[in-house]
Amino acid sequence: MNINADTVIIGAGPAGLFQVFELGLHDISSHVVDALPQPGGQCTELYPDKPIYDIPALPVCGAQELVDRLLKQSEPFSPEFHLGQEVRCLTREGDGTFHVETSTGTVFNARTVVVAAGVGAFQPRRLKLDAVEDLEDKVIHYKVSDPAVFANKRIIVLGGGDSALDWVLELQGIARHVTLVHRSSNFRAAPASVTKFMNLVEAGDADFVQGNVVSLEQRGGVLESVGVMDADTPRRDIELDHLLVFYGLSPRLGPIAEWGLDRVKSQIEVDTEKFQTSMPGVFAIGDINTYPGKRKLILSGFHEAALAAFAVKQYLDPEAKVHLQYTTTSTRLHERLGLKEAE
Ligand code: FAD
Repeated sequence: MNINADTVIIGAGPAGLFQVFELGLHDISSHVVDALPQPGGQCTELYPDKPIYDIPALPVCGAQELVDRLLKQSEPFSPEFHLGQEVRCLTREGDGTFHVETSTGTVFNARTVVVAAGVGAFQPRRLKLDAVEDLEDKVIHYKVSDPAVFANKRIIVLGGGDSALDWVLELQGIARHVTLVHRSSNFRAAPASVTKFMNLVEAGDADFVQGNVVSLEQRGGVLESVGVMDADTPRRDIELDHLLVFYGLSPRLGPIAEWGLDRVKSQIEVDTEKFQTSMPGVFAIGDINTYPGKRKLILSGFHEAALAAFAVKQYLDPEAKVHLQYTTTSTRLHERLGLKEAE
């Protein structure tokens, strides 16, 4: 898919979502890309139910609630979301536009780019054992794209969170046999899912083994068994066809490091007038950027998004006089916000 865009925002965390709104006020539409399957960044992925107390004018706001409010606020500008895809490549073309390419093959020809990539793209935590790499995407999986692959197979699921429990319940009727391996009998999943799983174990329709996977037995790319150990019990070898690993997600700077943007460690250097990077036309806001005095707070990202929007507008239309307008009084902004017919 090839898409021409005024602005591509990389990252749908709170900074990226507010950037949509601020660009919208300047009549600039946005395409937003995120590696995660849903918007919200750290708020949604790491602490959706926790209350936040330092968002201006909201004495307390749940992290997911904040994301929902930001999405609602951006609605008048109809951003196009491209989720579940990591931006792998960002290069400047001869004509000054940017070639932005994602892991699923979406290609943007963008006039400007705002990097709002936080602490990096969230990736599945991988199993750290010898020979894992040779088996990944064949018999070791970190996501389920097609449940039919597991029909009539013996599968072992690793993890104790919602993803692990949900897939055990989902695949139990499809696979020949399902075993859940988790380091303790305390699960981080929804209580209803845990109860359902325990009922299956009691009925003999699934197994639960407490411990950690410590070894893999493979022959010629075929996974034969895994060794599971617990502090209190000796090692057990369990035969299987497929291993599904749900150890959660962790952020990784990844390809951003190769885009040629000046960085200090894993953060992109910007100025504090435009939040522009060392590559003109590419801006960076939120946790991913750095400048003297930078603090990784949501409200810093909001401020940066507001100023970056002015700079993007000026970059796209260098001749324009970009005026400050108030949302309270500007009829033009009211029109853009879809509040009422032109006064
Ligand atoms: P993020 O929220 O990290 O979002 C970045 C997004 O970019 C992610 O979704 C990621 O998948 C995506 N991405 C990265 N690279 C790519 C790529 N190459 N391709 C596609 N997508 C990519 N801050 C406060 O102000 N107040 C608080 O009370 C507070 N509490 C916190 C509590 C916890 C437990 C944590 C972990 C953080 C807390 N923070 C708090 C910090 C706050 O969450 C961050 O400052 C904020 O999320 C940064 O927003 P962001 O949009 O810059 O980045």
